Amino acid sequence: MKIAVLGTGTVGRTIAGALAGLGHDVVIGTRDPQATLARTEPDAMGTAPFAQWHAAHKQVGVATFADAAAGGELIVNATNGGGSLKALAAAGPGNLSGKVIMDVANPLDFSQGMPPSLNPVNTDSLGEQIQRTFPEARVVKTLNTMTASVMVNPARVAGGEHSVFVSGNDEDAKKAVTEILQGFGHRDVIDLGDITSARGAEMILPVWLRIWGSLGTGEFNFKIAR
Ligand code: NAP
Repeated sequence: MKIAVLGTGTVGRTIAGALAGLGHDVVIGTRDPQATLARTEPDAMGTAPFAQWHAAHKQVGVATFADAAAGGELIVNATNGGGSLKALAAAGPGNLSGKVIMDVANPLDFSQGMPPSLNPVNTDSLGEQIQRTFPEARVVKTLNTMTASVMVNPARVAGGEHSVFVSGNDEDAKKAVTEILQGFGHRDVIDLGDITSARGAEMILPVWLRIWGSLGTGEFNFKIAR
């Protein structure tokens, strides 16, 4: 499948690399491809420059958000939560219309320091904001409740015996996303319901961040025992 992964951070790179490895035709989207490829220094979080990653993943195309989205049959939103609506607006509503948006972003707000808070929260979610802003797109919130390496390789934790959630209004879109999740090796995909259930999935983040702090690693996940 032709897939546009919007986002050049750890998550975008990890998902794009994994999808390409599974045989998908992947283009990664960024605001300014030339500037993104020209960076030579690690970012503030110590993430290696994008060009270094791309040199090892030459089969992944690099394009503007709009060009990537135009060619994608399915869109992955792996942009910063505070910039997701802008990134998707730059991708262009017409390039999103009718397509599945697999939304893995979290609306983390660092403006008051650490730990971050969520904005929106409780009575709204980023998943719903995206669905409202792009009503012709079919948004499915997923994978936001685990670290990037576990998203695409669940076996890294407890042999893959843990859970992933999907939220969205469109049953066929959730089926398409579930197939991608299963392609990554996820076995316990729990449908939380319509896109309003993204509130719950996003509100896992405050707990996730505290567990990360306690364990000193992001390589863990939630298993819904039943
Ligand atoms: P990130 O640093 O949060 O986001 C990087 C991407 O966001 C870049 O592609 C950047 O565009 C774009 N971006 C930033 N501000 C923007 C703005 N104002 N307008 C348009 N685009 C903007 O990267 P990340 O750590 O890979 O996380 C991606 C998303 O996944 C986030 O929402 C995060 O909360 C979520 N998430 C992360 C993890 C994880 O393991 N890190 C786990 C679960 C969920 P350029 O390419 O142009 O710079």
